[in-house]
Amino acid sequence: MKAFQVAENGKPLVEVELETPTPTGQEILLKTISCGVCHSDIHIHDGYFELGGGAKLPTPLMEPLTMGHEIFGEVIAFGEKVSNIKVGEKYVAYPWIGCGDCELCNVDKTQYCMNNTNLGVNVGGGYGDHVLVPGEQYLFDAGDTPDNLAGSYACRGLTAFSALKKAEPFPQDNSLVIISAGGLGLLALKIAIAKYGINPIVIDIDDDKLKVAKELGASAVINSSSEGAAGKILELTGGGARSIVDFVGAEVTANLGYQCLTRGGTLVVVGLFGGQIKVALPVHVLTEKKLIGSYVGSLGEMKELMALVADGKIEPVEVESRNVAEANRTLKEMKEGKLLGLVALTHS
Ligand SMILES: [Zn+2]
Ligand SMILES: [Zn+2]
Repeated sequence: MKAFQVAENGKPLVEVELETPTPTGQEILLKTISCGVCHSDIHIHDGYFELGGGAKLPTPLMEPLTMGHEIFGEVIAFGEKVSNIKVGEKYVAYPWIGCGDCELCNVDKTQYCMNNTNLGVNVGGGYGDHVLVPGEQYLFDAGDTPDNLAGSYACRGLTAFSALKKAEPFPQDNSLVIISAGGLGLLALKIAIAKYGINPIVIDIDDDKLKVAKELGASAVINSSSEGAAGKILELTGGGARSIVDFVGAEVTANLGYQCLTRGGTLVVVGLFGGQIKVALPVHVLTEKKLIGSYVGSLGEMKELMALVADGKIEPVEVESRNVAEANRTLKEMKEGKLLGLVALTHS
């Protein structure tokens, strides 16, 4: 099999020829059709997260890694203990695989398991033309979803879904503010419309991206780099938002989000851009604002999300397909903030 691997943090991916795995037991071998390029690929590739003030949280590479955790593929083989899967079927793979036998795994929090084998993060993923999935419970039907979008529900879609659930918006327009009109923000916009029947406000610093968000159903869009952005949010939300999901996670966005919450409102920080939030503790107490972090989502949430997806309830967003040979250019453009919307790599 062919794969594009991170051989050294921050250096261009290298194309390698690897032995194609043979599935045994409960394993399933997928032939990769399409794999989304997610923002966390940048952090995995770089080998660190920005903590703000120049500090870094290292996540060094243990050995060459085939990235890609937004996998959509076709079943071509499986082990003897697999029963409900057929060759030729196409599935999205849930990549957040836990040990299956710890306190966290036992309460459907495999995504936080300390002994995880996450696809495309700890073990080979969809930047390779074949991916080994450890069990059929991790495979999900995507209905009529376009091939190049399907995989993105496993990370960015799931991340948006889980964050929205934590944010608990009221069932009315403008009770929800989405920070970012990038790929993740747009998926969240579509999921919010499908799940809650509301049109949220979308915030970004890029007018082109905001234009897309408005076309896709945002009730209002605000450029946060413009003068008086916070005032505009407060005005549109009638004094503060019930729920804000920050898909950027930068110092400026998280602080803006916190400031624009109503009393008892919830800010869910999802993005990993980096930085710090400053909160005056008495204000936090007196306003009962909630500040929550959210990282991907559980297998149970994936089931809920994929039921909406398979039923065609979530309107698809546009995805640009690129050949996997363009992985390096794609990562570079994503790092520079140049990608409008989602990009998926194909192996044909
Ligand atoms: Zn575990
Ligand atoms: Zn991701």
